[in-house]
This record gives sequence, C-alpha cells and structure tokens, in this order.
Amino acid sequence: MLEVHDPTNQFEVHDPAMLAQARAVLDACSSPQEMQEAVLAAVTRNEEWRGKRCLNLLAPEAPTSPAVRALLSAEVGTRAAEGHIGPVNRWFAGTRHIDEIEALCVELLKKAFRARYADHRLVASMIGNMAVYTTLTEPGDVIMSITQPFGGHSSNRVDGPAGVRGLKIVDIPFDPVELEVDLDLFRKVAPLVRPRVVALGASMTLFPFPIQAICDIVAEWDGCVFFDGAHQLGLVAGGQFQDPLREGAMVMTGSAGKTFSGPQSGIMVWDDAQLTGPLTHAVFPVLAATHQVNRVAALAVSAAEMIAYGKVYMAQIVRNAQALGAALARRGIAVLGEHKGFTTTHQVIADVRQFGGGLEVAQRLARANIITNKNLIPADRPEDWDHPGGLRLGTTEVTRLGMHETEMETIADFMARLLVEQAAPEDVVDDVIAFRQPYQTLYYCFDHGMPVNTPTSHSL
Ligand SMILES: *Cc1c(COP(=O)(O)O)cnc(C)c1O
Repeated sequence: MLEVHDPTNQFEVHDPAMLAQARAVLDACSSPQEMQEAVLAAVTRNEEWRGKRCLNLLAPEAPTSPAVRALLSAEVGTRAAEGHIGPVNRWFAGTRHIDEIEALCVELLKKAFRARYADHRLVASMIGNMAVYTTLTEPGDVIMSITQPFGGHSSNRVDGPAGVRGLKIVDIPFDPVELEVDLDLFRKVAPLVRPRVVALGASMTLFPFPIQAICDIVAEWDGCVFFDGAHQLGLVAGGQFQDPLREGAMVMTGSAGKTFSGPQSGIMVWDDAQLTGPLTHAVFPVLAATHQVNRVAALAVSAAEMIAYGKVYMAQIVRNAQALGAALARRGIAVLGEHKGFTTTHQVIADVRQFGGGLEVAQRLARANIITNKNLIPADRPEDWDHPGGLRLGTTEVTRLGMHETEMETIADFMARLLVEQAAPEDVVDDVIAFRQPYQTLYYCFDHGMPVNTPTSHSL
C-alpha cells in the first residue's frame, strides 16, 4: 500500500524535501488556525518579495490591475452557474445578474478582438486548445505544430491536448536563424501529410507567423489554421501583432493572464458561425461546468482595460522588449534575432550557453531578484528541456509598472554585472531592490491611468 507519509516516497511527483518541510511546519502548529497562519505567511512573503522587490521578467506573467484583482474575491465567485448565458440555458436559478456579467464579458471580448464570437468559460487556455482539437479534428488525424526548441507548447504536441485527442503530429519546419516558419520547406512537407489543422503561435515567440500563406497551402485539402495566441493575446487586442482571425485562422485561443493582463485563465474567439455549436459544446458540457464567475467579471474588466489602454500599453511593451534586447546585446549577452531587431513581441530570448546555460543563469538571476525562465532555443534538443541553453525574458510587468526604454538599460546593466562580470548575486540584489522600489503602481488601467511621472533617472 502507498505510504503517503514516507518522505522517500518514490510515487510522489513533488520535491519530497519541500513536502517534508511543509509537514514539519504543520506538525509544529498547535492548532488548525496556526496552520492557516502558516499559509497566509507564505502568501505574504511572496507578495513582499515577488510583488515589491523583484524585477519580474517572466514572459507568461502579467500584473493585474487593482480592479481586476479585487474582483477575484467578489461574492459572485461563490455562485454556481453552469451552461450558456440566459435563464432557460442554465441548470440553476438565480443567475439573473450572473447572466448580465457574463454577457458583458462575452461582448467585451468580441470588441477587444474584433471577433464575431467569444467564449469566456475557459479556466485555462489549455481547455480552449482541447475544445479546438475536439471540434476541428477526429482521432487519428494529422496536425502540424511547432517543436519545443522552436517555442512550441506541449498543448499542441503529443504530451498535451493534441496528444490526448489521438492526433498524429508532424513538425512545422522552422528556420533557426530567421526564427520563423520555413515556408519553402512547409510547402514541400505539408502536401505529403495533408494536415487537418496547422497550429501556429508559440510560447517562445519573437516574430509573426505566415498565417495567410499557410491557410492558402492547406486549403487545397480543406485543412485550416488554428492560432494558439496564449502569449500574444494582449498584443493582438492592442493591434501590436498580426491579427490571426483577419489573416485566416479559424479560431484563436489564448491565456488571459499573459500579455492580455487579465485573470489567469483562457479566452477563445472565432468568426465562423458554423464553429459556434461544436466549439461551445466542447466547453460546456464537455470540459467545464462551473467556471468561476468572479474570474469572468475580472476578465470582463481586463477586456475593457485592453480596449481603453491596449494600444499604448502593448506598444510600450514591444518597445521595451526591443530596447532590452539591444541593451543586453551591447553588453555582451547574445540575444536571438539580433539581425531582425531582436523581437516584435513582449519577449527577448538570450542564448546563455556561455554563462552556464538557462537553468544556472535563471537561478543566479533569481538570487539577485531578477525573475526569468530557462528556455529551449533552436540550438537545443527537446530532451535538453531541463538544462536548455536559453533564457526567456518578458517586459509585460515592468512596462505596466511604468518603465520605459531607459529603465531597460538599467535592467541590462544588472544582468551584465551578474553574467558578464560574474558579480555575486548578493552584491547586486540591494541595487535591484532599490531600483524597483519607486515602481509600485500599476498603470494602463482605470485605477491609475497612464504612467505620468515615470522617473527617468535614479540614484543607486
Ligand atoms: C502558456 C501557453 C499555453 C497554456 O496556457 P494556460 O492559460 O496556462 O492554460 C498554451 N499554449 C501556449 C503556446 C502557451 O504558451
């Protein structure tokens, strides 16, 4: 029988030492209330550290506005509302105001993405991807998607929803220098396997995808393009990236909590009326029942924020990413896509093999309160995932805190001290904290408007 309290338990997926430490904390508590306090204390420690003293450059993160954050603890989050909007469609009575909230959310999402249809019930964008594969494919179909070293995400590979659907997955040829789909090679490979769906969009994403060209190629056998815009959703809403639906993608999914800067969850938008039945059926009743109405309210408000501020907010995110890429390269840190201006998104990808690789570098930077993630780059093999050569940076949070291009120079200075000059993290961390200290207000939202008195110089 499984011995759950055995700290050496080989069946536990989590770090056994971390779980043992948690058990020791709980064992030392004299009451359940003290156990609660242990939880609250850890939350506060994170807020003090990540929330106030770190430069958070994790590309999949975004800070939510005070209005959005407050809604996540709203009373409506305790209410149950399954099904589609409207009194007859619901299983439960009492949804009068919930219907109002959800209808506002759907219409705001349509406006934000200039789309005819939207679904607001995805508690994660992975669920949207599962709904898309359920709708557009049959088990055994061939799809094409991007491999992980080129930025592909598990959800479109064998280890995610695409694999669960039983799809055969063929790699989209990718140019390791241009960091774009190799369209010439795609033209040769695709007709041989005739994919039902081509999944574009990626987790490492620097440049646009040839959506229209691929739509034209696969139209020959009635194939289509699905755009997984998890990362780019905010950029798309703000008009600072290609517009996948306008370029022919059948459906776009994405994470509400990445550049879109809403509550962590998913969004799905499409234009084709024929898809509405099957896509929404895959969401309810197949993949989601209660869907967190507090989150829906927060999503609606973040969509309103995107409509009001998305254009300037997202444009500054991209300018900051380009400035950060250039500043790092000038300081001797190799950055992908240099010959193309480094990036057209919120991301910057550094090749940190000369500094010990992505894992080592991300951990070193974190000791100096600079939060990033290790990342596979084209030079890596998929099996290098735990020790890849790259480092991924994103400028969403620092931008929302009111930083501009000048501040990217300072961030690059910190990173160069740690990586190029090999300064000890302990000797840099206080400077990082002092630099971050004046930036505690979140902008591009109705609570605080636009950044006005952004300091352009600072004393360290
Ligand atoms: C982050 C990501 C996802 C998963 O998004 P969740 O909202 O966390 O479920 C899916 N696809 C891509 C390309 C991603 O980068």
